[in-house]
Amino acid sequence: MSEMLAARLYEAGQPLKVESVPVPKPGPGEVLVEVAACGLCGTDIHLAVEGDIPVAHTPITLGHESAGTIAALGEGAAGFAIGDRVALFPAASCGECSYCMAGRESLCDRSKVYGMARDGGLAKYITAPAHTLIRIPDGVPFDIAAIVTDGVSTPFHALRGRGQLQPGESVAVVGCGGLGTHAIMLAKMMGAGKIVAIDVQKQALERALDLGADLAIDAAAEDPAKAIKAAFGRSGVDIALEFVGAAKTAETALRVLGKTGRAVFVGVGMERATLPPLIRFVGMEQSVLGSFGMDKADIEDLFAHIEAGELDLSRSVSAKFPLSEINEALGTLARKGEGIVRIVVEPS
Ligand SMILES: [Zn+2]
Ligand SMILES: [Zn+2]
Repeated sequence: MSEMLAARLYEAGQPLKVESVPVPKPGPGEVLVEVAACGLCGTDIHLAVEGDIPVAHTPITLGHESAGTIAALGEGAAGFAIGDRVALFPAASCGECSYCMAGRESLCDRSKVYGMARDGGLAKYITAPAHTLIRIPDGVPFDIAAIVTDGVSTPFHALRGRGQLQPGESVAVVGCGGLGTHAIMLAKMMGAGKIVAIDVQKQALERALDLGADLAIDAAAEDPAKAIKAAFGRSGVDIALEFVGAAKTAETALRVLGKTGRAVFVGVGMERATLPPLIRFVGMEQSVLGSFGMDKADIEDLFAHIEAGELDLSRSVSAKFPLSEINEALGTLARKGEGIVRIVVEPS
């Protein structure tokens, strides 16, 4: 066990190179994890194909949604044993800053995201600080555990942590790709009232209805705010989640809000969104919130929901690829529109 295969980014827009590299050694407080599954997401497309999210250094092994088995323990790595099934928080958070101490790991001052600032999980092995690991319950398979670390926990954080969804409240989801699809499932699990899906892709809207959305709106064909009023006869929804990261969709999320409505922006981008006229925004006591990633507790609690049979993600992994086909996997994800929810790579 001295060499392993890893999918490495040299330059955005070029295929990743699957090449032999030394197996990393876990440092003090770290563990070595044999990766069983690593999820891909839109962030990987930004990194590998579009190049609009920078990486700290090249070459770098991509992959920030990893789950596997502990293969070795570094000096002083506490709380885990060789053979334990674990998922990795998507970033190596420091565990010491005020945000980490408060359980807000997504905001860690010294966070190193896998595949951006530190080698990621698209390899046979990855090292991680032991304090960033989450134990996987027996009933949760590795591929599901991997996608929960980001693709499911990100919308959960937006709904629970930031939006503070209460049972019976209505939810609109703007952008029903991987994150939006899971947002619909999670809103349902959390006892939301009416759930509205907004997208421009027919397949995404059909899938949303299939998963329990009460209303699907094709934003290219009708005005979402008017359609919601016509369907429910209220001022608008209680929570609107935005997953696209564009000005137009952010403004849609604001326009569909009712009184005391909260718009939660999850999608990131360089565009600038405009608030509604202040007389409307203030008069309806609305809020705009940013929601960045997830905290460790979001992942832990989701594992418990899955283990308890309250959340069925068996349809969420749309395709699996071996590490040798990483570029085909990225290509499939980048093309979209093929009913893809989430793609998983299995490096071991
Ligand atoms: Zn991701
Ligand atoms: Zn920290």
